[in-house]
Amino acid sequence: MRLRNVRGSRETIAANDYVIKNETEYKGTWNQVFGNDNPIHIEIGMGKGQFITTLAQQNPHINYVGIEKYSSVLIRAIAKQEELQLPNLYFIRMEAEYIADVFAKDEVAQIYLNFSDPWPKDRHAKRRLTSKEFLARYNQILIPDGVVIFKTDNRDLFDFSVEQVPEAGWNMVNCTYDLHNSEFVEGNIMTEYETKFVAEGKPIHRLVANREMK
Ligand code: SAH
Repeated sequence: MRLRNVRGSRETIAANDYVIKNETEYKGTWNQVFGNDNPIHIEIGMGKGQFITTLAQQNPHINYVGIEKYSSVLIRAIAKQEELQLPNLYFIRMEAEYIADVFAKDEVAQIYLNFSDPWPKDRHAKRRLTSKEFLARYNQILIPDGVVIFKTDNRDLFDFSVEQVPEAGWNMVNCTYDLHNSEFVEGNIMTEYETKFVAEGKPIHRLVANREMK
C-alpha cells in the first residue's frame, strides 16, 4: 500500500470508538466487546477496509475485526464505519506478528489475508503473512475447523504459500490460480487491490487452508 502521511491520523484513531486500544486486554473476551457469542472472523492487513466492511454489512451474525498496521490507511476504514456504524465491526492498529497476544485459543473462526505484502527477499520470508511462522500463530487462535483464506495476484508469494501449508502441518481445502474464472468466484467480495488488478486483467490466486485434525 502506498503510504501518504495523513496528518492527524493517529489522533483520529486514538479518539475513535471503533478502534480497540490496549487490544491484548481483550484476549479471550472478545465476545464481550461484541456483546454476543457469534463467530469472529478477522482480516489481517485490511488496508482501507472495503472487503471487511462489505462482509460485515452482509453478515450481521458474524463479528469482524479488521487489523492494519498503518494509521494512514486505517483512517479510511474508520471513515466508512463512521457512516455505517455496524455493530459487528471493530478495528485494531497493530503488527500482526503479535496476533496470538490478542486472541485466545479457539477465539477466531476465520482469517482473511488479502493481497498481503510479498516480502520478495528470501531472508524476509518469515515476515510473509502465509509463512509457516505466521501459520503457527494462527494455529494458536483458530477454532479446530477454522480456516485461513488467502488471495493475491502475486504468483511467487502464492507458490510459496502453497508450499508452506503442508510444511506447517495444515491442509489445503481448495486452491485456484484464477479465482475469477473458477467455481469459487460466486459470492466473492472484492478488495481495493483486487478491483485494480482484475481491471488490469491479472489473474487472482486464492487458497483456503485448515489444520489437520488436532
Ligand atoms: N487487503 C487490502 C490491502 C492490501 S495491501 C486489499 O486487498 O486491498 C496489504 C496491507 O496489509 C497494507 O495496508 C499493509 O499495511 C498491511 N500489512 C502488511 N503486513 C502487515 C502486518 N504484519 N500487520 C498488519 N498489517 C499488515
